Amino acid sequence: MKVIRKADLPLGKQDSGHIFNLLIDSVIDYAIFLLDPNGIVATWNPGAQRLKQYKPDEIIGKHFSTFYTQPDLEIRKPWHELEVAAETGRYEDEGWRLRKDGTKFWANVIIIAIREADGTLLGFGKITRDLTERRASELRYRLLIDGVTDYAIYSLDPNGNVTSWNSGAQRIKGYTGDEIIGSHFSNFYTPQDRDAGVPERVLRTAFEQGHFEGEGWRLRKDGTRFWSSVVVTPIRDEEGTLRGFSKITRDITDRKRLLDEIQHHASELEREIQERERTNAELEAFSYSVSHDLRAPLRAIEGFSSALREDFGSQLPAEGLEYLDEIRTASIRMSNLVQDLLDYSRLSRVELDLVPILIRESVDSAIQEIAAPVGIISIEIPDGLTVFAHRLTLVQVLANLLDNGLKFRSAGREQKIRVSASLDGPAVAIQVQDNGIGIEEKYQDRIFKVFERLHGTEEYPGTGIGLAIVQRGVEKMNGSITIASQPGVGSTFTITLLAAPAAERNG
Ligand code: ADP
Repeated sequence: MKVIRKADLPLGKQDSGHIFNLLIDSVIDYAIFLLDPNGIVATWNPGAQRLKQYKPDEIIGKHFSTFYTQPDLEIRKPWHELEVAAETGRYEDEGWRLRKDGTKFWANVIIIAIREADGTLLGFGKITRDLTERRASELRYRLLIDGVTDYAIYSLDPNGNVTSWNSGAQRIKGYTGDEIIGSHFSNFYTPQDRDAGVPERVLRTAFEQGHFEGEGWRLRKDGTRFWSSVVVTPIRDEEGTLRGFSKITRDITDRKRLLDEIQHHASELEREIQERERTNAELEAFSYSVSHDLRAPLRAIEGFSSALREDFGSQLPAEGLEYLDEIRTASIRMSNLVQDLLDYSRLSRVELDLVPILIRESVDSAIQEIAAPVGIISIEIPDGLTVFAHRLTLVQVLANLLDNGLKFRSAGREQKIRVSASLDGPAVAIQVQDNGIGIEEKYQDRIFKVFERLHGTEEYPGTGIGLAIVQRGVEKMNGSITIASQPGVGSTFTITLLAAPAAERNG
């Protein structure tokens, strides 16, 4: 008869107890051993030897309290553990245990009561794992989190109850860990936010979107408010089951206050600007209607002084005729002034339609308008150079600049005015250059204001409104104007306007 050895049998047919022993013997990451009902070590696997350093014959037969520290022995912990295991079937614990050489390791321990079918206690199975490394890294992590005082870092269980609390949380919110762990995090919200369901919404958003980020008022333990910036992230295990939430809160009350202040100033400024714009608009409407209404009496003065001269001129002495001339000159000046003021205020009220305009044509119109003497003005403008502009306004701007160039001539040298234009990127620069009296630098800003003149009207006639019209007209055409001038040498005014494609021109 052939002898069949157990080892020749397929696994399932072998004695399962034997296989189990082989399994236990091959485990080296866990100490797995049996205790008798009194706690005496009965078996010892290689994992136990590796972990606790005892060989089987050194420990089998000894009481398992050998593995416990002095303080644990003093409170009779080993015996207590066996009692609990015997009573409830199972005992689990984490704590310091001793190796043979007296060094400590952090152990996760499970003790299981082993009973016969009739309930007789046979002993205990004990499984021990060395978690020293994990504990050290957890400790490092905890110390790291706890060392952060600028941020409140804490965790919640899936229902929103606080489960951990760092020193930053204590500093910012005023609760110690003992006071708050176990409480619901909605305690940090204002009653209004709580009533509006904000805390629930925060967790729901974090749960559904994997993230919540927001700012808002929160309450400290003492009831005071702080403006917080919050990030909430769900914590899931390997299977994806929700384990809770991590929450990081920062107190940004100072920043919020600063922002509020800036915002307040900004809206104040906005209000002032609006008020000023309204006042300006009112003033302009006022000056427009005044100028407008001045025209009728002015016409009467002009008309009647002409009639006086025609009908009664022969009866007036020479002095009387002189006075009449003065009246006439003054009324002409005034009607120029009124016309300029009307032009100026009209410009600020209208929206200009900007279309492609040929620069050359506008310059020609302007020269025609001021009836410039021949031979003074030279023109250097490339054919077809076109800008986006409003034709009448551009002509008026150019006429004013050319008029000034002619007017503020330098005595004792041949007068020359040059109008040029050139493409400068997306823009066109149009220059009006004269060799006149020039303007001192300190006056170069002022002359663009209404009624600002550097000379008396006897010396150079004018209203002081021309350059104000020029500047406003250019701005209305989305352009800008600059001046370069030197007293005794001459002035160059440069207008910059957006270039228009030559093909589109219709100016
Ligand atoms: P007006 O020509 O009616 O006096 P403007 O507003 O056109 O008013 O000009 C304001 C002032 O700027 C002039 O009175 C003059 O003093 C100065 N100014 C303007 N253009 C020139 C120029 N081309 N050369 C010298 N001075 C000028």
